[in-house]
Amino acid sequence: MQDARLWRTLLGVEKTVVESIDLEDDGGFLIASVRPTGSMRNRCGICQRRSPKYDQGEGLRRWRSLDLGTVQVWLQAAAPRIRCSKHGVTVAAVPWARHQAGHTHDFDAQVAWLATKSSKTAVTELMRIAWRTVGAIITRVWADTEKEFDRFADLKRIGIDEISYKRGHKYLTVVVDHDSGRLLWAAPGRDKATLRTFFDALGEERSAAITHVSADAAPWIAAVVAERCPDAVQCADSFHIIKWATEALDEVRRTAWNDARKAARANEPGRERGRPPAGSPARPDSALAAGVKNSRYALWKNPENLTEKQQTKLAWIVQTDPRLGRAYYLKEGLRLVFKLPLEEAAEALDKWVAWARRCRIPSFVKLQKSIVKHRESILAAIEHGLSNGRVESMNTKIRLITRIAFGFKSPDALIALAMLSLGGPKPMLPGRN
Ligand SMILES: [Zn+2]
Repeated sequence: MQDARLWRTLLGVEKTVVESIDLEDDGGFLIASVRPTGSMRNRCGICQRRSPKYDQGEGLRRWRSLDLGTVQVWLQAAAPRIRCSKHGVTVAAVPWARHQAGHTHDFDAQVAWLATKSSKTAVTELMRIAWRTVGAIITRVWADTEKEFDRFADLKRIGIDEISYKRGHKYLTVVVDHDSGRLLWAAPGRDKATLRTFFDALGEERSAAITHVSADAAPWIAAVVAERCPDAVQCADSFHIIKWATEALDEVRRTAWNDARKAARANEPGRERGRPPAGSPARPDSALAAGVKNSRYALWKNPENLTEKQQTKLAWIVQTDPRLGRAYYLKEGLRLVFKLPLEEAAEALDKWVAWARRCRIPSFVKLQKSIVKHRESILAAIEHGLSNGRVESMNTKIRLITRIAFGFKSPDALIALAMLSLGGPKPMLPGRN
């Protein structure tokens, strides 16, 4: 064919013969009929080994390629089957696409890059594919990327966590590298068997080289870590511990709100909407109910991040509902422990425990028991500097990805998106170096 080299360049294909070019659908589609060059023919789609031809397969197949201008481009070729001595009968390899894929290498690469950089709508509309197709593409791109580098080299300090997806019904176990800040590994499930597959992949020698493991206080994590890297120091993730305190505080807030509402209903019968007339009696219970209801963020946020309005709200709560105020200071007190040097932290933690034990707030009395139980791993986290926000920020990013990935058929696509975004080597745009 004339201009064969020009077409090979425009189509971004190598080791490929372009036989003809046709336009279909009023010029909306460009169909390039192609075939692998001699040396690339009759190779196993899985291992690339030269193999005897088996049959014609299912005739002509098409592969979606990158658009040329606004025109959709498809490669069209025969898809014969071969018989590989190792893999049996399978479709022959093609130089322009992955085995069994319906899109070219360049198309896959561009989708992977976009998926880690832009919104769901941007990828699906620009590339004119469904979100599920994006999921299938990034899954195979990650499977190949994974083979190209040794993600488990030189591991010393790791963090293990569980993250919910699919509206909290399903979980991933994730492992991060504290030193590089990379996401190392993720798999569906949250149990001993799941975590063991991580240590299996890591291997005995490298597992033994792990010096520190941080995790939330889940017993299944502690058990497997003790079993596979018994010499590693187990540390508690500070943000999980602080989350417990925030949850205990929220329980107090909800109780306070319910009590105030009940009291308001009993003592302060309803009145007309709108501004109360001058001289109306005060309604302290209603005011308290309304104030506590809107106090969630003032109570949750770290005091240094509070807006002026939230600071005022907080001061008002501490005065109006001393019990809720006490719960707030207990939460803040525990958060402070993680900011102290080890010697002071140990003393401060014990003082906090004594305070919480006597506070007469059930959720904090209960929390205090958990803290005592995990005292050693909490202090280990402070001693070894693993109480940093790295795991937490990774956690936040993965949660964001789980929301974006909603709609993928399998957790493999979610894991692929997380690994391609946070795992190290980032997807590259095709044709760039
Ligand atoms: Zn093979």
